[in-house]
Amino acid sequence: MKHAVVIGAGAAGLTAAILLGQRGWRVTVIEQHYRPGGCLHRFFRKGVGFDTGFHYVGSARPGQSFGQVLRHLGVQPELQPLDPDGFDVLRFPGLDFRVPEGLDRWAARLVEAFPDQAAGVARYVELHRQCVAAYGLYRLDPGPAPEAVVPWEELTLGQVLVDCFSDPRARAVVAGHGAPLYGVAPREAPFGVHCVVMDHFLGGAWTVRGGGDALAQALVDRVESLGGRVRLRTAADHIEVEGGAATAVVTEAGERLPADLVIAGIHPKSVLAMLPEGSVRPAYRDRVEGARSGRVHLGVYLQVRGDLSPLAGRNLYRYHHWDVDAIDDSAADDVPFWFLTAPGARGEGEGVVLGLTMTDAARWAPWQGVDLGRRPGGAPARDIAYEAEKAKLLQAFCARVQAEFPSWEIVRAEASSPLTMEHYTRVPGGATYGHHHAVDQMGRYRLPMLTRVKQLVQVGQAVAMPGVCGAMMSAYLAVGGMVGMTTMIEELRAA
Ligand SMILES: Cc1cc2nc3c(=O)[nH]c(=O)nc-3n(C[C@H](O)[C@H](O)[C@H](O)COP(=O)(O)OP(=O)(O)OC[C@H]3O[C@@H](n4cnc5c(N)ncnc54)[C@H](O)[C@@H]3O)c2cc1C
Repeated sequence: MKHAVVIGAGAAGLTAAILLGQRGWRVTVIEQHYRPGGCLHRFFRKGVGFDTGFHYVGSARPGQSFGQVLRHLGVQPELQPLDPDGFDVLRFPGLDFRVPEGLDRWAARLVEAFPDQAAGVARYVELHRQCVAAYGLYRLDPGPAPEAVVPWEELTLGQVLVDCFSDPRARAVVAGHGAPLYGVAPREAPFGVHCVVMDHFLGGAWTVRGGGDALAQALVDRVESLGGRVRLRTAADHIEVEGGAATAVVTEAGERLPADLVIAGIHPKSVLAMLPEGSVRPAYRDRVEGARSGRVHLGVYLQVRGDLSPLAGRNLYRYHHWDVDAIDDSAADDVPFWFLTAPGARGEGEGVVLGLTMTDAARWAPWQGVDLGRRPGGAPARDIAYEAEKAKLLQAFCARVQAEFPSWEIVRAEASSPLTMEHYTRVPGGATYGHHHAVDQMGRYRLPMLTRVKQLVQVGQAVAMPGVCGAMMSAYLAVGGMVGMTTMIEELRAA
Protein backbone atom coordinates (compact mmCIF):
# COMPACT_ATOMS: atom_id res chain seq x y z
CA MET A 1 0.00 0.00 0.00
CA LYS A 2 1.35 3.41 -0.92
CA HIS A 3 1.98 5.89 1.89
CA ALA A 4 1.31 9.63 1.69
CA VAL A 5 2.47 12.14 4.27
CA VAL A 6 0.42 15.32 4.43
CA ILE A 7 2.01 18.33 6.11
CA GLY A 8 -0.62 20.50 7.84
CA ALA A 9 -4.10 19.60 9.09
CA GLY A 10 -5.78 22.67 7.61
CA ALA A 11 -8.85 22.46 5.36
CA ALA A 12 -6.67 21.72 2.32
CA GLY A 13 -4.40 19.11 3.90
CA LEU A 14 -7.29 17.24 5.50
CA THR A 15 -9.24 17.24 2.23
CA ALA A 16 -6.24 15.85 0.36
CA ALA A 17 -5.87 13.16 3.05
CA ILE A 18 -9.50 12.07 2.56
CA LEU A 19 -9.22 12.03 -1.23
CA LEU A 20 -6.12 9.84 -1.02
CA GLY A 21 -7.67 7.63 1.68
CA GLN A 22 -10.66 7.10 -0.60
CA ARG A 23 -8.23 5.84 -3.23
CA GLY A 24 -6.63 3.30 -0.94
CA TRP A 25 -3.56 5.25 0.16
CA ARG A 26 -2.28 4.95 3.71
CA VAL A 27 -2.16 8.54 4.89
CA THR A 28 -0.43 10.25 7.80
CA VAL A 29 -1.24 13.90 8.41
CA ILE A 30 1.19 15.79 10.63
CA GLU A 31 0.15 19.05 12.27
CA GLN A 32 2.39 21.32 14.31
CA HIS A 33 -0.48 22.70 16.43
CA TYR A 34 -2.21 20.94 19.33
CA ARG A 35 -5.56 21.18 17.50
CA PRO A 36 -6.33 20.39 13.86
CA GLY A 37 -7.88 22.90 11.47
CA GLY A 38 -5.34 25.67 10.88
CA CYS A 39 -7.47 28.75 10.19
CA LEU A 40 -10.51 26.71 11.25
CA HIS A 41 -9.13 26.84 14.79
CA ARG A 42 -11.47 27.82 17.60
CA PHE A 43 -10.08 28.80 21.01
CA PHE A 44 -11.98 28.56 24.27
CA ARG A 45 -12.40 30.82 27.29
CA LYS A 46 -14.26 29.21 30.20
CA GLY A 47 -15.77 26.71 27.79
CA VAL A 48 -16.99 29.36 25.32
CA GLY A 49 -15.64 28.96 21.79
CA PHE A 50 -14.28 31.76 19.58
CA ASP A 51 -13.51 31.09 15.92
CA THR A 52 -10.30 32.63 14.65
CA GLY A 53 -10.45 32.19 10.87
CA PHE A 54 -13.86 30.98 9.90
CA HIS A 55 -17.27 32.62 9.92
CA TYR A 56 -19.46 31.27 7.12
CA VAL A 57 -19.49 29.32 3.86
CA GLY A 58 -21.53 29.48 0.67
CA SER A 59 -22.97 27.21 -2.02
CA ALA A 60 -23.54 24.29 0.36
CA ARG A 61 -26.68 22.80 -1.19
CA PRO A 62 -26.56 19.50 -3.05
CA GLY A 63 -25.56 20.28 -6.62
CA GLN A 64 -23.57 23.36 -5.60
CA SER A 65 -19.78 23.32 -5.41
CA PHE A 66 -19.24 23.24 -1.64
CA GLY A 67 -22.28 21.02 -1.09
CA GLN A 68 -20.89 18.49 -3.54
CA VAL A 69 -17.43 18.63 -1.94
CA LEU A 70 -18.96 17.76 1.45
CA ARG A 71 -21.01 14.92 -0.07
CA HIS A 72 -18.08 13.56 -2.02
CA LEU A 73 -15.80 13.63 1.03
CA GLY A 74 -18.49 11.98 3.15
CA VAL A 75 -18.43 14.80 5.68
CA GLN A 76 -21.66 16.17 7.11
CA PRO A 77 -21.17 19.15 9.45
CA GLU A 78 -24.44 20.65 10.71
CA LEU A 79 -25.13 23.71 8.56
CA GLN A 80 -27.35 26.62 9.63
CA PRO A 81 -28.60 28.96 6.90
CA LEU A 82 -28.15 32.71 7.20
CA ASP A 83 -31.02 34.94 6.02
CA PRO A 84 -31.47 34.32 2.26
CA ASP A 85 -32.97 37.79 1.92
CA GLY A 86 -29.93 39.49 3.43
CA PHE A 87 -27.14 37.31 4.77
CA ASP A 88 -24.63 40.16 4.70
CA VAL A 89 -25.37 43.81 5.37
CA LEU A 90 -22.94 46.25 3.76
CA ARG A 91 -23.31 49.48 5.73
CA PHE A 92 -21.85 52.59 4.13
CA PRO A 93 -22.44 56.19 5.25
CA GLY A 94 -26.18 56.65 4.67
CA LEU A 95 -26.76 53.35 2.85
CA ASP A 96 -27.51 49.79 3.95
CA PHE A 97 -27.21 47.17 1.22
CA ARG A 98 -28.64 43.80 2.23
CA VAL A 99 -27.05 41.07 0.12
CA PRO A 100 -29.63 38.46 -0.89
CA GLU A 101 -29.00 34.93 -2.12
CA GLY A 102 -28.94 34.61 -5.92
CA LEU A 103 -27.14 36.64 -8.58
CA ASP A 104 -30.38 37.87 -10.15
CA ARG A 105 -31.84 39.00 -6.84
CA TRP A 106 -28.54 40.67 -5.99
CA ALA A 107 -28.60 42.51 -9.34
CA ALA A 108 -32.23 43.58 -8.83
CA ARG A 109 -31.37 44.96 -5.40
CA LEU A 110 -28.41 46.84 -6.82
CA VAL A 111 -30.71 48.43 -9.40
CA GLU A 112 -33.17 49.32 -6.61
CA ALA A 113 -30.36 51.09 -4.75
CA PHE A 114 -28.89 52.75 -7.87
CA PRO A 115 -31.66 52.99 -10.51
CA ASP A 116 -29.56 55.08 -12.90
CA GLN A 117 -26.90 52.31 -12.97
CA ALA A 118 -29.28 49.63 -14.34
CA ALA A 119 -27.42 49.25 -17.66
CA GLY A 120 -24.11 48.90 -15.84
CA VAL A 121 -25.58 46.29 -13.49
CA ALA A 122 -26.77 44.22 -16.49
CA ARG A 123 -23.33 44.45 -18.09
CA TYR A 124 -21.61 43.56 -14.83
CA VAL A 125 -23.82 40.50 -14.30
CA GLU A 126 -23.10 39.30 -17.83
CA LEU A 127 -19.33 39.62 -17.21
CA HIS A 128 -19.71 37.81 -13.88
CA ARG A 129 -21.46 34.89 -15.61
CA GLN A 130 -18.84 34.65 -18.37
CA CYS A 131 -16.03 34.82 -15.85
CA VAL A 132 -17.35 32.17 -13.47
CA ALA A 133 -18.00 29.82 -16.40
CA ALA A 134 -14.22 29.68 -16.97
CA TYR A 135 -13.65 28.01 -13.58
CA GLY A 136 -14.32 24.38 -14.46
CA LEU A 137 -13.72 22.74 -11.08
CA TYR A 138 -15.69 25.40 -9.22
CA ARG A 139 -18.59 25.02 -11.68
CA LEU A 140 -18.23 21.20 -11.59
CA ASP A 141 -17.83 21.41 -15.34
CA PRO A 142 -15.05 19.38 -17.00
CA GLY A 143 -15.33 21.56 -20.15
CA PRO A 144 -13.11 24.63 -19.66
CA ALA A 145 -9.33 24.30 -20.02
CA PRO A 146 -7.31 25.44 -16.96
CA GLU A 147 -5.92 28.38 -18.98
CA ALA A 148 -9.45 29.75 -19.47
CA VAL A 149 -9.21 31.56 -16.13
CA VAL A 150 -6.03 33.46 -17.00
CA PRO A 151 -7.60 36.49 -18.74
CA TRP A 152 -10.13 36.86 -15.91
CA GLU A 153 -7.33 36.92 -13.35
CA GLU A 154 -5.36 39.53 -15.29
CA LEU A 155 -8.27 41.96 -15.37
CA THR A 156 -8.74 44.06 -12.25
CA LEU A 157 -12.06 44.35 -10.49
CA GLY A 158 -11.39 48.10 -10.33
CA GLN A 159 -11.24 48.29 -14.14
CA VAL A 160 -14.52 46.39 -14.56
CA LEU A 161 -16.22 48.61 -12.00
CA VAL A 162 -15.12 51.78 -13.78
CA ASP A 163 -16.34 50.32 -17.09
CA CYS A 164 -19.74 49.37 -15.68
CA PHE A 165 -20.67 52.02 -13.12
CA SER A 166 -20.49 55.80 -13.23
CA ASP A 167 -21.59 56.07 -9.58
CA PRO A 168 -18.63 55.42 -7.26
CA ARG A 169 -21.06 54.31 -4.55
CA ALA A 170 -22.29 51.43 -6.73
CA ARG A 171 -18.64 50.44 -7.27
CA ALA A 172 -18.06 50.52 -3.52
CA VAL A 173 -21.06 48.29 -2.81
CA VAL A 174 -19.86 45.66 -5.29
CA ALA A 175 -16.22 45.76 -4.20
CA GLY A 176 -16.92 46.23 -0.51
CA HIS A 177 -18.45 42.79 -0.20
CA GLY A 178 -15.53 40.96 -1.76
CA ALA A 179 -12.40 42.82 -0.66
CA PRO A 180 -12.49 41.61 2.96
CA LEU A 181 -13.22 38.05 1.81
CA TYR A 182 -10.01 37.77 -0.21
CA GLY A 183 -8.00 40.64 1.25
CA VAL A 184 -7.25 42.57 -1.94
CA ALA A 185 -8.27 46.15 -2.78
CA PRO A 186 -10.26 46.52 -6.05
CA ARG A 187 -7.43 48.36 -7.85
CA GLU A 188 -5.39 45.12 -7.81
CA ALA A 189 -8.02 42.42 -7.19
CA PRO A 190 -8.35 39.92 -10.05
CA PHE A 191 -11.89 40.02 -11.41
CA GLY A 192 -11.81 36.20 -11.49
CA VAL A 193 -11.04 35.91 -7.77
CA HIS A 194 -13.75 38.43 -6.93
CA CYS A 195 -16.39 36.69 -9.04
CA VAL A 196 -15.70 33.17 -7.79
CA VAL A 197 -15.67 34.24 -4.14
CA MET A 198 -18.87 36.29 -4.60
CA ASP A 199 -20.56 33.55 -6.59
CA HIS A 200 -19.78 31.10 -3.77
CA PHE A 201 -21.63 33.25 -1.23
CA LEU A 202 -24.41 34.39 -3.57
CA GLY A 203 -25.15 30.69 -3.87
CA GLY A 204 -26.49 30.92 -0.30
CA ALA A 205 -24.72 31.42 3.02
CA TRP A 206 -24.45 29.07 6.00
CA THR A 207 -22.69 28.88 9.31
CA VAL A 208 -21.51 25.59 10.77
CA ARG A 209 -22.80 24.51 14.19
CA GLY A 210 -19.69 24.24 16.35
CA GLY A 211 -17.82 26.57 13.98
CA GLY A 212 -14.61 25.86 12.11
CA ASP A 213 -13.62 23.45 14.84
CA ALA A 214 -16.59 21.20 14.06
CA LEU A 215 -15.75 21.23 10.36
CA ALA A 216 -12.10 20.39 11.12
CA GLN A 217 -13.13 17.58 13.47
CA ALA A 218 -15.53 16.15 10.87
CA LEU A 219 -12.65 16.12 8.35
CA VAL A 220 -10.30 14.46 10.86
CA ASP A 221 -12.95 11.82 11.69
CA ARG A 222 -13.29 11.05 8.00
CA VAL A 223 -9.52 10.75 7.50
CA GLU A 224 -9.43 8.30 10.40
CA SER A 225 -12.47 6.33 9.23
CA LEU A 226 -10.54 5.71 6.01
CA GLY A 227 -7.62 4.30 8.01
CA GLY A 228 -5.51 7.48 8.05
CA ARG A 229 -3.81 9.10 11.03
CA VAL A 230 -3.74 12.73 12.13
CA ARG A 231 -0.81 13.41 14.43
CA LEU A 232 -0.94 16.67 16.35
CA ARG A 233 2.07 18.53 17.88
CA THR A 234 4.14 17.03 15.06
CA ALA A 235 5.85 19.70 12.98
CA ALA A 236 7.60 18.97 9.70
CA ASP A 237 11.18 20.16 9.69
CA HIS A 238 12.38 19.17 6.24
CA ILE A 239 11.56 17.06 3.21
CA GLU A 240 14.07 14.50 2.00
CA VAL A 241 14.63 14.43 -1.75
CA GLU A 242 16.37 11.55 -3.51
CA GLY A 243 16.84 11.26 -7.25
CA GLY A 244 14.68 14.36 -7.74
CA ALA A 245 11.71 12.92 -5.81
CA ALA A 246 10.40 13.56 -2.29
CA THR A 247 10.92 10.38 -0.29
CA ALA A 248 10.32 11.30 3.34
CA VAL A 249 9.30 14.03 5.75
CA VAL A 250 11.46 14.52 8.82
CA THR A 251 9.76 16.05 11.85
CA GLU A 252 11.25 18.66 14.16
CA ALA A 253 11.66 15.86 16.72
CA GLY A 254 13.84 14.02 14.19
CA GLU A 255 11.40 11.27 13.24
CA ARG A 256 11.67 10.17 9.61
CA LEU A 257 8.36 9.44 7.87
CA PRO A 258 9.01 7.68 4.54
CA ALA A 259 6.53 8.65 1.83
CA ASP A 260 5.64 7.73 -1.73
CA LEU A 261 3.93 11.11 -1.94
CA VAL A 262 4.23 14.29 0.10
CA ILE A 263 1.32 16.73 0.13
CA ALA A 264 2.29 20.09 1.57
CA GLY A 265 -0.77 21.92 2.91
CA ILE A 266 1.32 24.85 4.07
CA HIS A 267 2.60 28.04 2.46
CA PRO A 268 5.02 27.53 -0.48
CA LYS A 269 7.62 29.71 1.28
CA SER A 270 7.58 27.23 4.18
CA VAL A 271 7.86 24.32 1.73
CA LEU A 272 10.83 25.95 0.03
CA ALA A 273 12.61 26.25 3.36
CA MET A 274 12.10 22.49 3.89
CA LEU A 275 13.67 21.43 0.58
CA PRO A 276 17.37 20.70 0.11
CA GLU A 277 19.39 23.40 -1.62
CA GLY A 278 19.36 22.94 -5.39
CA SER A 279 16.24 20.77 -5.55
CA VAL A 280 14.16 23.47 -7.26
CA ARG A 281 15.02 25.70 -10.18
CA PRO A 282 16.54 29.09 -9.22
CA ALA A 283 13.67 30.80 -11.10
CA TYR A 284 11.13 28.97 -8.92
CA ARG A 285 13.03 29.87 -5.75
CA ASP A 286 13.15 33.55 -6.77
CA ARG A 287 9.46 33.54 -7.60
CA VAL A 288 8.39 32.05 -4.28
CA GLU A 289 10.82 34.08 -2.22
CA GLY A 290 9.71 37.24 -4.04
CA ALA A 291 5.98 36.57 -3.74
CA ARG A 292 4.17 39.13 -1.60
CA SER A 293 2.24 37.74 1.34
CA GLY A 294 -1.35 38.83 1.66
CA ARG A 295 -2.92 41.53 3.80
CA VAL A 296 -3.12 41.09 7.54
CA HIS A 297 -5.92 41.64 10.01
CA LEU A 298 -6.72 42.22 13.66
CA GLY A 299 -9.08 39.49 14.91
CA VAL A 300 -11.53 40.62 17.59
CA TYR A 301 -13.28 38.30 20.06
CA LEU A 302 -16.05 39.84 22.13
CA GLN A 303 -18.66 38.76 24.62
CA VAL A 304 -21.47 41.24 24.96
CA ARG A 305 -24.59 41.62 27.05
CA GLY A 306 -27.48 42.94 25.05
CA ASP A 307 -29.75 42.27 22.12
CA LEU A 308 -27.84 40.39 19.41
CA SER A 309 -30.91 39.91 17.21
CA PRO A 310 -29.83 42.56 14.64
CA LEU A 311 -27.05 40.11 13.72
CA ALA A 312 -29.06 36.89 14.11
CA GLY A 313 -29.16 35.82 10.46
CA ARG A 314 -26.58 38.14 8.99
CA ASN A 315 -23.07 39.52 9.13
CA LEU A 316 -22.19 43.20 9.09
CA TYR A 317 -19.60 44.80 6.81
CA ARG A 318 -19.23 48.34 8.13
CA TYR A 319 -17.52 51.04 6.06
CA HIS A 320 -17.13 54.59 7.37
CA HIS A 321 -16.13 55.82 3.90
CA TRP A 322 -16.86 55.00 0.25
CA ASP A 323 -13.33 54.22 -0.87
CA VAL A 324 -12.90 50.43 -0.79
CA ASP A 325 -9.43 50.86 -2.29
CA ALA A 326 -8.50 52.28 1.11
CA ILE A 327 -9.45 49.02 2.85
CA ASP A 328 -5.80 48.18 3.37
CA ASP A 329 -4.81 51.76 4.12
CA SER A 330 -4.92 51.18 7.83
CA ALA A 331 -1.85 52.70 9.42
CA ALA A 332 -4.07 55.05 11.43
CA ASP A 333 -5.37 54.23 14.90
CA ASP A 334 -8.89 53.93 13.67
CA VAL A 335 -10.94 51.22 12.02
CA PRO A 336 -12.55 52.79 8.95
CA PHE A 337 -13.71 49.30 7.91
CA TRP A 338 -14.77 46.47 10.21
CA PHE A 339 -16.64 43.18 10.02
CA LEU A 340 -18.88 41.66 12.66
CA THR A 341 -20.64 38.33 13.01
CA ALA A 342 -22.53 37.08 16.05
CA PRO A 343 -22.43 33.33 16.70
CA GLY A 344 -23.97 34.21 20.08
CA ALA A 345 -27.14 35.26 18.27
CA ARG A 346 -27.37 31.73 16.85
CA GLY A 347 -26.89 29.86 20.11
CA GLU A 348 -23.13 29.48 19.64
CA GLY A 349 -21.70 30.76 22.90
CA GLU A 350 -23.43 33.25 25.15
CA GLY A 351 -22.92 36.78 23.84
CA VAL A 352 -20.15 35.75 21.43
CA VAL A 353 -19.47 38.33 18.72
CA LEU A 354 -16.48 38.05 16.38
CA GLY A 355 -14.92 40.85 14.39
CA LEU A 356 -12.04 41.76 12.21
CA THR A 357 -10.46 44.77 10.62
CA MET A 358 -7.54 45.03 8.23
CA THR A 359 -4.29 46.30 9.69
CA ASP A 360 -0.87 47.29 8.41
CA ALA A 361 1.85 44.60 8.49
CA ALA A 362 4.56 47.24 9.09
CA ARG A 363 2.96 48.24 12.37
CA TRP A 364 3.73 44.79 13.83
CA ALA A 365 7.24 44.48 12.38
CA PRO A 366 9.04 45.57 15.59
CA TRP A 367 7.84 42.40 17.29
CA GLN A 368 8.61 39.97 14.48
CA GLY A 369 10.42 37.00 15.97
CA VAL A 370 9.46 37.86 19.57
CA ASP A 371 8.31 34.81 21.54
CA LEU A 372 4.53 35.12 21.71
CA GLY A 373 3.95 32.07 23.87
CA ARG A 374 3.24 32.18 27.54
CA ARG A 375 6.01 31.28 29.98
CA PRO A 376 5.56 28.31 32.32
CA GLY A 377 3.82 29.68 35.39
CA GLY A 378 1.47 31.82 33.35
CA ALA A 379 3.48 35.05 33.13
CA PRO A 380 2.95 36.66 29.75
CA ALA A 381 6.03 36.60 27.55
CA ARG A 382 4.69 39.31 25.35
CA ASP A 383 6.29 42.67 25.06
CA ILE A 384 4.40 45.42 26.90
CA ALA A 385 4.63 47.78 23.93
CA TYR A 386 3.19 45.05 21.69
CA GLU A 387 0.28 44.51 24.05
CA ALA A 388 -0.31 48.27 24.13
CA GLU A 389 -0.34 48.43 20.32
CA LYS A 390 -2.91 45.66 20.14
CA ALA A 391 -5.00 47.24 22.92
CA LYS A 392 -5.03 50.59 21.08
CA LEU A 393 -6.53 49.07 17.96
CA LEU A 394 -8.92 46.87 19.93
CA GLN A 395 -10.13 49.94 21.80
CA ALA A 396 -10.77 51.77 18.52
CA PHE A 397 -12.67 48.70 17.29
CA CYS A 398 -14.79 48.48 20.43
CA ALA A 399 -15.57 52.20 20.23
CA ARG A 400 -16.91 51.70 16.70
CA VAL A 401 -18.99 48.70 17.81
CA GLN A 402 -20.32 50.56 20.82
CA ALA A 403 -21.34 53.55 18.67
CA GLU A 404 -23.18 51.21 16.29
CA PHE A 405 -24.85 49.16 19.04
CA PRO A 406 -25.17 51.58 21.98
CA SER A 407 -27.28 49.16 24.06
CA TRP A 408 -24.56 46.48 24.10
CA GLU A 409 -22.31 46.09 27.09
CA ILE A 410 -18.96 44.60 26.06
CA VAL A 411 -17.98 42.31 28.93
CA ARG A 412 -14.96 40.64 27.30
CA ALA A 413 -12.72 41.85 24.50
CA GLU A 414 -9.63 40.14 23.14
CA ALA A 415 -7.70 40.59 19.94
CA SER A 416 -5.27 38.63 17.82
CA SER A 417 -2.59 40.35 15.76
CA PRO A 418 -0.91 39.09 12.57
CA LEU A 419 1.85 37.82 14.87
CA THR A 420 -0.68 35.70 16.76
CA MET A 421 -1.85 34.32 13.43
CA GLU A 422 1.73 33.57 12.35
CA HIS A 423 2.50 31.93 15.69
CA TYR A 424 -0.47 29.56 15.53
CA THR A 425 -0.61 28.72 11.82
CA ARG A 426 2.98 29.46 10.72
CA VAL A 427 1.62 31.39 7.74
CA PRO A 428 4.46 33.77 6.78
CA GLY A 429 3.73 37.23 8.18
CA GLY A 430 0.38 36.01 9.53
CA ALA A 431 -1.31 36.90 6.23
CA THR A 432 -5.07 36.45 6.48
CA TYR A 433 -5.34 34.47 3.24
CA GLY A 434 -1.69 33.43 2.96
CA HIS A 435 -0.74 34.65 -0.49
CA HIS A 436 -1.60 38.13 -1.80
CA HIS A 437 -4.11 37.08 -4.48
CA ALA A 438 -3.55 40.19 -6.62
CA VAL A 439 -3.46 40.46 -10.44
CA ASP A 440 0.34 40.36 -10.60
CA GLN A 441 0.38 37.14 -8.55
CA MET A 442 -2.55 35.26 -10.09
CA GLY A 443 -3.40 34.20 -13.63
CA ARG A 444 -0.21 33.06 -15.30
CA TYR A 445 1.75 34.26 -12.23
CA ARG A 446 -0.03 32.00 -9.71
CA LEU A 447 2.23 30.10 -7.35
CA PRO A 448 2.37 26.61 -8.88
CA MET A 449 1.21 23.50 -7.04
CA LEU A 450 4.09 21.52 -8.52
CA THR A 451 7.81 22.13 -8.21
CA ARG A 452 10.58 20.27 -9.99
CA VAL A 453 10.58 17.81 -7.08
CA LYS A 454 8.58 14.74 -8.06
CA GLN A 455 6.15 13.15 -5.58
CA LEU A 456 5.59 16.53 -3.94
CA VAL A 457 2.36 18.50 -4.42
CA GLN A 458 1.39 21.75 -2.73
CA VAL A 459 -2.19 22.49 -1.73
CA GLY A 460 -3.90 25.27 0.23
CA GLN A 461 -5.22 28.76 -0.18
CA ALA A 462 -1.85 30.19 -1.24
CA VAL A 463 -1.72 28.10 -4.43
CA ALA A 464 -5.46 28.32 -5.10
CA MET A 465 -8.31 30.57 -4.02
CA PRO A 466 -8.74 32.12 -0.59
CA GLY A 467 -11.44 30.69 1.69
CA VAL A 468 -12.34 27.28 3.03
CA CYS A 469 -13.92 26.11 -0.22
CA GLY A 470 -10.95 27.42 -2.25
CA ALA A 471 -8.48 25.66 0.02
CA MET A 472 -10.45 22.39 -0.08
CA MET A 473 -10.79 22.55 -3.85
CA SER A 474 -7.02 22.88 -4.17
CA ALA A 475 -6.86 19.29 -2.91
CA TYR A 476 -9.19 18.26 -5.75
CA LEU A 477 -6.83 19.97 -8.19
CA ALA A 478 -3.89 18.09 -6.67
CA VAL A 479 -5.52 14.67 -6.76
CA GLY A 480 -7.14 15.53 -10.11
CA GLY A 481 -3.61 16.06 -11.41
CA MET A 482 -2.91 12.42 -10.53
CA VAL A 483 -6.14 10.72 -11.61
CA GLY A 484 -7.34 13.15 -14.28
CA MET A 485 -9.37 16.29 -13.71
CA THR A 486 -12.31 15.05 -15.75
CA THR A 487 -12.58 11.94 -13.56
CA MET A 488 -12.36 14.09 -10.44
CA ILE A 489 -15.07 16.51 -11.58
CA GLU A 490 -17.33 13.69 -12.71
CA GLU A 491 -16.96 12.02 -9.31
CA LEU A 492 -17.79 15.29 -7.61
CA ARG A 493 -20.89 15.83 -9.72
CA ALA A 494 -22.09 12.31 -9.08
CA ALA A 495 -21.57 12.39 -5.28
C1 LIG B 1 -9.88 35.92 10.20
C2 LIG B 1 -10.23 34.99 9.07
C3 LIG B 1 -11.55 34.81 8.73
C4 LIG B 1 -11.90 33.92 7.71
N1 LIG B 1 -13.22 33.72 7.43
C5 LIG B 1 -13.56 32.82 6.49
C6 LIG B 1 -14.94 32.54 6.24
O1 LIG B 1 -15.84 33.06 6.91
N2 LIG B 1 -15.24 31.66 5.25
C7 LIG B 1 -14.26 31.06 4.50
O2 LIG B 1 -14.58 30.28 3.61
N3 LIG B 1 -12.94 31.31 4.73
C8 LIG B 1 -12.58 32.16 5.71
N4 LIG B 1 -11.26 32.39 5.97
C9 LIG B 1 -10.25 31.72 5.15
C10 LIG B 1 -10.09 30.26 5.48
O3 LIG B 1 -10.08 30.05 6.86
C11 LIG B 1 -8.80 29.75 4.86
O4 LIG B 1 -8.80 30.09 3.48
C12 LIG B 1 -8.59 28.24 4.94
O5 LIG B 1 -9.00 27.71 6.17
C13 LIG B 1 -7.11 27.95 4.67
O6 LIG B 1 -6.87 26.56 4.72
P1 LIG B 1 -5.45 25.97 4.34
O7 LIG B 1 -5.56 24.52 4.57
O8 LIG B 1 -5.04 26.47 3.01
O9 LIG B 1 -4.39 26.63 5.36
P2 LIG B 1 -4.27 26.66 6.93
O10 LIG B 1 -5.58 26.76 7.58
O11 LIG B 1 -3.28 27.75 7.22
O12 LIG B 1 -3.63 25.25 7.31
C14 LIG B 1 -2.26 24.98 7.30
C15 LIG B 1 -1.94 24.05 8.45
O13 LIG B 1 -0.57 23.68 8.39
C16 LIG B 1 -0.03 23.67 9.70
N5 LIG B 1 1.43 23.79 9.59
C17 LIG B 1 2.15 24.87 9.22
N6 LIG B 1 3.45 24.59 9.22
C18 LIG B 1 3.56 23.28 9.60
C19 LIG B 1 4.66 22.41 9.78
N7 LIG B 1 5.94 22.80 9.61
N8 LIG B 1 4.41 21.13 10.16
C20 LIG B 1 3.14 20.68 10.36
N9 LIG B 1 2.07 21.50 10.22
C21 LIG B 1 2.28 22.77 9.83
C22 LIG B 1 -0.73 24.83 10.37
O14 LIG B 1 -0.65 24.73 11.78
C23 LIG B 1 -2.13 24.69 9.82
O15 LIG B 1 -2.91 23.84 10.63
C24 LIG B 1 -10.89 33.24 7.00
C25 LIG B 1 -9.55 33.41 7.35
C26 LIG B 1 -9.21 34.26 8.39
C27 LIG B 1 -7.78 34.38 8.81
